[in-house]
Amino acid sequence: MEPEALEICPYNPHHRVPLSRFQYHLASCRRKNPKKAKKMASCKYNACHVVPIKKLEEHEAVCVSRSTMEEEDSLCPLKVSLPSSDTNCHPTFKTLRPGG
Ligand SMILES: [Zn+2]
Ligand SMILES: [Zn+2]
Repeated sequence: MEPEALEICPYNPHHRVPLSRFQYHLASCRRKNPKKAKKMASCKYNACHVVPIKKLEEHEAVCVSRSTMEEEDSLCPLKVSLPSSDTNCHPTFKTLRPGG
């Protein structure tokens, strides 16, 4: 199994968060760091990119999500399809008896 890619939290570089939980983490960390959050802004191309407001323009100019924006406007989470389990229920169809 491949190790999940870890993103560094913009609010606290000690936080390494799996990409699948990154947006959730950002929201909760933002609430815990309101002072820091005031100085940060999220990239208009990717909500996962949180950068200092001063650097936002600079970031958006080179943002990696900028070019893919037109192709995919949102990240779709991986969908896990469950294999259909065998049905163990008894068949209940009526059979016509030949001589009644
Ligand atoms: Zn954090
Ligand atoms: Zn960005």
